[in-house]
Amino acid sequence: MIKALLARFQQKHRTMSFPDGPPPALPERFRGRPILDTAKCPDGCRKCADACPTAAITIADKAQIDLGRCLFCTDCQDACPHQVVTYLQDYRLATRSREALVVAQDEELVLAEALDTKLRRLFGRSLKLRQVSAGGCNACEADVNVLGTVGWDIGRFGIQMVASPRHADGLLITGCVTENMKLALEKTYAAVAAPKLVIAVGACAISGGPFLDLPAQHNGAASVVPVDLYIPGCPPHPLTILDGLLRLLGRLEE
Ligand code: SF4
Repeated sequence: MIKALLARFQQKHRTMSFPDGPPPALPERFRGRPILDTAKCPDGCRKCADACPTAAITIADKAQIDLGRCLFCTDCQDACPHQVVTYLQDYRLATRSREALVVAQDEELVLAEALDTKLRRLFGRSLKLRQVSAGGCNACEADVNVLGTVGWDIGRFGIQMVASPRHADGLLITGCVTENMKLALEKTYAAVAAPKLVIAVGACAISGGPFLDLPAQHNGAASVVPVDLYIPGCPPHPLTILDGLLRLLGRLEE
């Protein structure tokens, strides 16, 4: 016992202070929000759009990028010799609507606004989520799990993953919603008492990701259940997920 206490004393306090303090440093190679600068484009060039495996980039009247489809894979950047596509270090990506994730070149991303006062009173200090992996590769699930570790400790915000939808205030869905998982997702959603929240995490859960339009899946959670928060990424960084959850609960203002 003394040894355990001594080890704890030596290790000190490991939970980050974010959001009261600065966010943890992100590695240089971290890819945040992709942006386009088509002023550099030669006439008629579509190399970035053609290289994109999920058709996330459209270059019609105005260039826009769908963050709900983006896999942050850099294929567009690699295909373009003019450095039209760059990635910000900005980890903040979550939105309340699917439409807000489609961002034109000259637009700002409208980040998720908080729940209304009544729902914030209900969920703001205690939010229990049932995680549903609806055909994911486990990358998004892994980054959600990271939030439960001592460094991130989402329990300090009252957020907790629970084992049963009967104990949950909402669902956190990953994966493209395969045909084989559709019924399970519908049943799990039905088993959560109203009012309830649904959070779609990752490109698959938002749009189908790399499986977009394949017949064995449903292009994400919104085709089956109403979604309250979209958190893009492939997978999203834990900081992106935490940022989205805290915005939804009104714990982050800017
Ligand atoms: S990073 Fe990949 S998925 Fe995202 S827009 Fe570029 S090519 Fe498409």
